[in-house]
Amino acid sequence: YESKRLKNSAHLFKNTMQEGYLRNVNIEQALRSAIENREFFMVYQPQISTQGAFYGVEALARWNSPILGNVPPDAFIPVAEASGQMPALGRCIIEASFADIKGVQQALGRTFYTSINLSARQLLEPDFAAYFIGKMREEGIQGVWAALEITESLLIEDVGSILPLLQELKAHGIKLSMDDFGTGYSSLSMLRMLPIDELKIDKSFIDTVLLDKGAQQMVQSIITIGKNLEMDVVAEGIETKEQLDMLTHFGCDRFQGYYFARPLDKEALADFIQENHPYM
Ligand code: C2E
Ligand code: MG
Ligand code: MG
Ligand code: MG
Repeated sequence: YESKRLKNSAHLFKNTMQEGYLRNVNIEQALRSAIENREFFMVYQPQISTQGAFYGVEALARWNSPILGNVPPDAFIPVAEASGQMPALGRCIIEASFADIKGVQQALGRTFYTSINLSARQLLEPDFAAYFIGKMREEGIQGVWAALEITESLLIEDVGSILPLLQELKAHGIKLSMDDFGTGYSSLSMLRMLPIDELKIDKSFIDTVLLDKGAQQMVQSIITIGKNLEMDVVAEGIETKEQLDMLTHFGCDRFQGYYFARPLDKEALADFIQENHPYM
């Protein structure tokens, strides 16, 4: 019986792997025409400061494929990277974000921070900084209102070659944010070496922070590290008032999560800002 069960589960595993592979092949193929056909759009999740004021947004990519339906970014970004389509998709994301945000800012007559997620491949493009700064200028967005979110794994690959690029972005006022902090392998010395302005505590810690002493200690340690290195600390994935209260008590600087708002399209974002947070 045991061996039959093992055989079955091995079979199951193989099937899942095969399905995963086929799904990635489908995604890869569908991606090829998706940029041209304008199947991507951006949504914007509000970030709220400790006083409850609207601070800015994180831009998140969405793909509505006529063949595959809605594909989440966790599924298509890695495939875009692996199949060499990330440079084109990355530019499409940056340009759509700047255009949307400029529209919302002009309509409301106010500026706010906009964070854009970067994938490893984008930072390895030799002309990335020049491209990003050029686009920012074209759209009339000032560097001080722009932030880039990078992940730990990205930096580990090649800190030395990425550092000058990060410094160039910083020289233009662009803020740098370390996303999903606590899940990767970055060392403290690396963190100190890099011109990072803010740490984003990964959602997995927030999910369990009320129940799990270990998660609480992790979160408090991350906040202490951030404070000591003069970085802001942002909590993502806040879903309840209790989580918000605990994170506020721990000294977190800003919050993002369904408790405040889901990622919103640009029209809903403008409404959110006006209805909930008309003043800074
Ligand atoms: P991330 O950058 O860590 O983004 C946070 C994710 O958590 C988003 O998922 C957001 O919708 C979700 N989230 C925020 N608050 C809550 C909450 O209270 N509850 C729950 N359950 N979820 C919450 P999303 O949009 O599916 O994105 C997933 C990941 O895909 C992102 O994680 C990021 O790594 C990547 N991604 C998304 N858009 C882009 C993009 O434009 N470029 C790149 N390179 N990666 C992107
Ligand atoms: Mg992010
Ligand atoms: Mg994150
Ligand atoms: Mg994440």
